[in-house]
Amino acid sequence: MMRYLAPYQTGLWLAEYLDIRCQLCRIYRSTPQAQLAHAYPSQSKENRDDAATQFLSTRPSLITKYRQQINQRFDSGLLCKHCHHSIAWLPKPFNVDIAAGTILPIQAATYYDYPMRQAIRAFKYHENMTKLPLLLHTLRQLPRPHGCHKNNSVIVAMPTTEQRLIKRGFAPVLILAAQLSKHWQIPIWQGVERIDNTVSQQGLTRAERLSNLDNAFALTEKPPVKRLLLFDDVATTGASLQALGQAIYSQTMPSTIDESHATDYYHIRAYALAHGSQS
Ligand SMILES: [Zn+2]
Repeated sequence: MMRYLAPYQTGLWLAEYLDIRCQLCRIYRSTPQAQLAHAYPSQSKENRDDAATQFLSTRPSLITKYRQQINQRFDSGLLCKHCHHSIAWLPKPFNVDIAAGTILPIQAATYYDYPMRQAIRAFKYHENMTKLPLLLHTLRQLPRPHGCHKNNSVIVAMPTTEQRLIKRGFAPVLILAAQLSKHWQIPIWQGVERIDNTVSQQGLTRAERLSNLDNAFALTEKPPVKRLLLFDDVATTGASLQALGQAIYSQTMPSTIDESHATDYYHIRAYALAHGSQS
């Protein structure tokens, strides 16, 4: 997986630790995440320190060269306060059904409006890496789900088809999921495959989206833990996350009541970078 991620990682580190400008307006100084944390009390300092340690350990030559700058600008943040407040509107979670009596709650980090819509599209369709710091800043506004940690949870990034991966040449959702994984300190699990017979969801109605996704996902192995945190870049109607949730639910649940025990149940929740209309 690292081969998809390495080039993006360097750009993010430079943006976060060496560039003091806001990655959105490019005018004001960026504000350390810690000073923005009051709006999102679940942001933990440990995660940021961990990112710092990783950065230093992988770039020993930079330590000597830029020690002073790194110390000064350490955790300088990615956005200024003005820009942060323009995007930091945690939408209310919404629910979709994945089985009779089982709902999947979907929480997005922000709305799919200006400037996020443009940034996501530039990143996703034009591989515009300069937008990645803004997307990462926004992802970090997602509070880590209560009670979830690296030993009991995994992140399941919305799988893409091989066809789409080849056409696009990179996996945008997986790159974002890797950033979320770092932020939450919860590993990614890639045990779901997307079967190559669906067409793009864009421009379809909700009913069309759902039937398009019938049997689109197949588990290739049993989930290693009971808490599954699904992730997609944009949730519009939630149909893709719903179909993924349904597939996991139906392929992991005990087939008869007799077989079922409380411990067999998986807890599935879903997260997205942005929530809104695709049009
Ligand atoms: Zn700004």
